Amino acid sequence: MKELQFDSAVIGGGAAGMAAALELSARGLSCAVIEREDELGGILMQCIHNGFGLIEFNEELSGPEFAQRLEEKVRSAAITPFCGATVIEVEDNGEHKVISCVSGAWGVIRIKARAVVLAMGCRERNRGNIRIPGSRPAGVFTAGLAQRLVNIEGYIPGKDVVIIGSGDIGLIMARRMSWIGCKVHAVVEILPYPSGLTRNIVQCLKDFGIPLYLSHLTTNIYGQDRVEGVEVTPIENGALMFDRSFRIPCDTVLLSVGLVPENELSRSLGIDLSPMTNGPWVDSTLMTSVPGVFACGNVLHVHDLVDFVVEEARRAGSFAADWLAGRRKDKELRVKAGSNVRYVTPGRLDPARDNKLYLRTLIVKNDAVLEVRLNNKTVRSQKKSHVQPSEMISFNLGPSELAAARESPDSVLEVSIL
Ligand SMILES: Cc1cc2nc3c(=O)[nH]c(=O)nc-3n(C[C@H](O)[C@H](O)[C@H](O)COP(=O)(O)OP(=O)(O)OC[C@H]3O[C@@H](n4cnc5c(N)ncnc54)[C@H](O)[C@@H]3O)c2cc1C
Repeated sequence: MKELQFDSAVIGGGAAGMAAALELSARGLSCAVIEREDELGGILMQCIHNGFGLIEFNEELSGPEFAQRLEEKVRSAAITPFCGATVIEVEDNGEHKVISCVSGAWGVIRIKARAVVLAMGCRERNRGNIRIPGSRPAGVFTAGLAQRLVNIEGYIPGKDVVIIGSGDIGLIMARRMSWIGCKVHAVVEILPYPSGLTRNIVQCLKDFGIPLYLSHLTTNIYGQDRVEGVEVTPIENGALMFDRSFRIPCDTVLLSVGLVPENELSRSLGIDLSPMTNGPWVDSTLMTSVPGVFACGNVLHVHDLVDFVVEEARRAGSFAADWLAGRRKDKELRVKAGSNVRYVTPGRLDPARDNKLYLRTLIVKNDAVLEVRLNNKTVRSQKKSHVQPSEMISFNLGPSELAAARESPDSVLEVSIL
């Protein structure tokens, strides 16, 4: 068994993991990045469409191009990547975390590090998670798996496609499947509004004449050996209108019904999870409930843009470096999701410095207002021309707005969308 020691270790070599490692290395700390795939890049490697990096590089890049830019920096920094190594356990032994990985090339590796950044990304919800009735034929895939089959493995999963859920991966795959000669018959969405970004609705559905059925539920999947069709039922005032159900023949169903942070390692380490984000609960320094363990990117909460992932990951790396340098946080105030807010992260803020917050709303609204209240007094009231659940909102709060929290020990900040 190989045993190694580093100042810090990052689990996951996607955009978040690479960005966090670069920050740790820039602060003079030795850093290992452990990635289960054979190369760095994470989910970006299968996203061959463009639209990445508008904020980070002021350019429109494909996913692999974006990953390559980060990887080149990682390779020229004092960072040790372990690719093809899957982390199976992380133990907290007080001064050190001990990370156990298995790798085809090296067998079992044990890496000791004083700080760990979790950057394991997220996984797709599947048919079992949403309990679609019907038989169990072949031909039902998650949209991300279909994307990998088409873009990396070079297989076409089917010819006549229905997509369930209007998340971004499903929308991107509607366009991709059309480009490779498949017929995409419909995208079926249970909610009255799309779950994906507006730009993807336009560029991936409207431009290809693919119908989007909002407020429709997939009530059956037919077929014995292979999918033969789906039954779709309209929803009105919360009730299923079975008298208006219709059937769409198809041989392939792609599911794009949400992503969930990859929590197995976090759970085994005893990290507190947030029921709102489904990822680890973190404080103002992106540190989890286990001291010395930080989290960023899609393992913390599901992001829509990689630019935000990289920004957050840099801060996680920087906070981990501060922690290793012995800096401990001062007094923090608690953050609470108010009206029409599904979640706001992080769960604590430091009133003495600038804090970045990310939130997702529960509503679709034009002319909305982002309202921030500290101890029941409004400290920010900011107009938002349009809000919707699929578009993450980010904002900064600094010492001047949080001044009152420095005097009052049990301060609470509440963020609402009105
Ligand atoms: C289909 C799709 C389209 C997108 N389109 C856009 C777009 O147009 N523009 C945009 O800006 N953003 C887009 N995004 C979002 C953006 O790409 C992602 O949010 C971002 O790349 C996620 O980075 P991450 O590092 O958090 O996660 P990931 O990239 O998922 O990286 C996590 C890594 O951790 C590794 N890992 C997990 N568990 C272990 C373990 N136990 N041991 C070792 N390694 C492990 C995984 O193998 C993976 O490589 C898209 C995302 C998807 C899925």
